[in-house]
Amino acid sequence: ASKIIGLTGGIGSGKTTVAKFIENCGFPVYYSDDRAKEIVNDNDDLKSKIKELLGEESYLQNGLYNRKFVAEKVFNDKELLQQLNEIIHPAVRIDFEKWVNKQTQYLIFKETALLFELKLNKQCYQSILVTAEDNIRIKRVMDRDGKTYREVQSVMEQQMPEREKIKIADFLIYNNTGLDDLKDQTEKIIFEIE
Ligand code: ATP
Repeated sequence: ASKIIGLTGGIGSGKTTVAKFIENCGFPVYYSDDRAKEIVNDNDDLKSKIKELLGEESYLQNGLYNRKFVAEKVFNDKELLQQLNEIIHPAVRIDFEKWVNKQTQYLIFKETALLFELKLNKQCYQSILVTAEDNIRIKRVMDRDGKTYREVQSVMEQQMPEREKIKIADFLIYNNTGLDDLKDQTEKIIFEIE
């Protein structure tokens, strides 16, 4: 069986950038957040559960997930958001397991923002946390998404504190400098795990 390595980091930490370096080294990466966005459109069982919870309007006339409607519906309703997550997360888990079964490499990676929050690290052989100073992360997301300082900061405040994640992770990548350094750190860790 393949060894699963969890790859995580908060908003703007650089985990997707690290995941791309890992792919360039020849190892497959499962992108949990991207897959979650796909399966809400592809998985009929999941679709009906979401409609049951949030109403028919959670899907558009053309059958696609109505992200805007859902976001507005769960905004400020923690309980409803939790119920939605309780439907989506197990579906992603099943999708991930199917993906794992198709892999032939001995090392495979799972990129997810919620590795520790959802205790998904329990299913991983080891975990990597990408971290950087708050101000650097905020600046990068402002540049990437055109968000305001305050908007990024408020997402950050809702995530698990960095110091908690640092305690749990097996490997740390400090992404405070350039991309060359980030790539070097990534390759060193892969080499160590191998
Ligand atoms: P999110 O959780 O918000 O999706 P992420 O952790 O996946 O974020 P990335 O998308 O990889 O983070 O990085 C955030 C932004 O910062 C991207 O635009 C990326 O190109 C840029 N970036 C990441 N690392 C560096 C770096 N060392 N130097 C310059 N830019 C970087």
